[in-house]
Amino acid sequence: LAARLSDPTLLISAAPVAGRWISDAPNQFEVRNPATDEVIATLPNLGIDETRAAIDAAHAARPAWAARTGKERAAVLRRWYDLVVANADDLAAILTAEMGKPLAEAKGEILYGASYIEWFSEEAKRIYGETIPGHQPDKRITVIKQPVGVVASITPWNFPNAMIARKLAPALAVGCACIAKPAAETPLSALALAKLGFDAGVPMELLSVVTSSRSAPIGQEFCANPKVAKLTFTGSTEVGRILMRQSADQVQKTSMELGGNAPFIVFEDADLDAAVEGAMTSKYRNNGQTCVCANRIYVQDGVYDAFAAKLVKAVESMQVGDGFEDGVSAGPLISAKAMDKVQDHIADATAKGAQVATGGAPHAKGGTFFQPTVLTGVTRDMAVATEETFGPVAPLFRFRDEADVIAQANDTIFGLASYFYANDISRVYRVAEALEYGMVGVNTGLISTEVAPFGGVKQSGQGREGSRHGVEDYLEMKYICLGLE
Ligand code: ADP
Repeated sequence: LAARLSDPTLLISAAPVAGRWISDAPNQFEVRNPATDEVIATLPNLGIDETRAAIDAAHAARPAWAARTGKERAAVLRRWYDLVVANADDLAAILTAEMGKPLAEAKGEILYGASYIEWFSEEAKRIYGETIPGHQPDKRITVIKQPVGVVASITPWNFPNAMIARKLAPALAVGCACIAKPAAETPLSALALAKLGFDAGVPMELLSVVTSSRSAPIGQEFCANPKVAKLTFTGSTEVGRILMRQSADQVQKTSMELGGNAPFIVFEDADLDAAVEGAMTSKYRNNGQTCVCANRIYVQDGVYDAFAAKLVKAVESMQVGDGFEDGVSAGPLISAKAMDKVQDHIADATAKGAQVATGGAPHAKGGTFFQPTVLTGVTRDMAVATEETFGPVAPLFRFRDEADVIAQANDTIFGLASYFYANDISRVYRVAEALEYGMVGVNTGLISTEVAPFGGVKQSGQGREGSRHGVEDYLEMKYICLGLE
């Protein structure tokens, strides 16, 4: 991997904790390339002691950072953004090596993550409060916004760069300090990102990255330590619930980006070719391993067969392979466990009457490579209807009318992303308003951008990342009442 990089110092085997790089911990863990199973790095396996040290350092460093002007913090973040963009090819190679996604997609993620650093560098100067006319003649009321304090972040492996950038950028922009715990599968992208942050001028004590293969005790420390004001998490709803329970003890603030079970609805009045293109993007990006991936594809009766045929044709043109190979559109799945889930969902659906229109089995390349799959004749009693597959399986449900499909789409504990294709303008408004989701893509399969608020309702989470609202998760409101003499 180092040979692929123009700056090999970005491939880091040490963790920045409490102002110094730790490389000599007695416990170590390995990071492997999921495409080849090759060990690409060995990292310090840190625990509670290092986590506490990181929190103490962050707590001590924070007031000076918060005391800088927004413009000064903005300049540091802007330099960080510039460095990420300048090193995007190296960062993408590191990401592909540890996570498996095709190199072009990895580079897309780096630039997407960077866009949040750019955005929040701009927002750093715009943390506006409010003045409210007094309730009595001698009263003056002002509302100010202040950083919450020390922020702990826990992030997953599916977007090893962007999920962290989306949290660190707003937190640092408004004057918080951060301790990041990246997923054990993909810590290298986090380390490279942090290093560029330090190069840009982020004080080392202000930002620690705790590398570890044991997330539960670190999560417990994050929730129990009184110096941590806020926990920000992206991952499964199951782990989100555990963390929320833990953080309840000190009524800690939380932001939660949790699981999804996105419906993707194709109405009869849709442009079918556009719908197929959108489904390809939404379903197969990152090999189906995103929380906004289409998980249930509902197609109206009259266009079901035509849509299925076009989708199968598009899926059969996908190229599965090592993310470093030219032309590859799907890399390996992250783990054997991920393979099992995909296979269980297909087995469950076919046992209950679904047909495999294409794919359906592990890929001949072996390892965790899987054939992009389309299932037809899928019904609501199958596991794919209620659980997130997190893999390259498109289950096609048939529906008759609008009311019925809205009811089915909303019949889930999740409420993150949803998509539909239609052209009737009244229907577009009706359906967009009726879907119980934090995000709705209409005639598009790609909705993520730093300028819009990303987040879910129901058990998909709390809080929003991106847009002008994104800073609010890291701010407290304070009301000041001044009595005049
Ligand atoms: P995924 O299936 O995407 O790995 P998880 O919710 O299991 O989703 O993991 C997301 C992140 O949460 C990872 O960094 C993982 O290490 C971490 N994690 C898992 N369990 C816990 C826990 N009990 N406490 C704290 N962090 C956890």
